[in-house]
Amino acid sequence: MADYDPLDSKSDPFGPPAISVLVECLHCGESYESYRIEFRIETDADGKQHGFWCCPIAGCDGKGFGFDILPVDPNYREERGGWVYCDDEEESEDDWEDGNDSERPEIDGDDESIPF
Ligand SMILES: [Zn+2]
Repeated sequence: MADYDPLDSKSDPFGPPAISVLVECLHCGESYESYRIEFRIETDADGKQHGFWCCPIAGCDGKGFGFDILPVDPNYREERGGWVYCDDEEESEDDWEDGNDSERPEIDGDDESIPF
C-alpha cells in the first residue's frame, strides 16, 4: 500500500482490463475497444502530477474504465463486480422460481373440477 504511485498506470484501479472489451464513453458517447483507453499524466490544482486512464477521443475528458468509460456488455460489468450500477434482483427471482418448480405438488386427476 505504501508503494502507491499515482504515476504508475498499474496502480490505477480504473485501468482497462487485460482482455480488451467494447466500451462506451459516458462523456462523448463514442464506442471503442478498451485497449484504446490512454494513460495520461496530468497536473492537478496543487501542482502534483497524477495519471489518469482517459478516453482516447480528441477533446473528450472522460476518465476511468468503469467510471466514465463503461463496457457495452452489461454481463461483463457483473463479472468485474464492485462498480455495477444496476442491481441483480431479477436474477435472484429467477432462481427462486426454478427452485419452486421442482417442489410443485403433482395435481392428481380430479374429474369434478373440470367443468364439462
Ligand atoms: Zn469520451
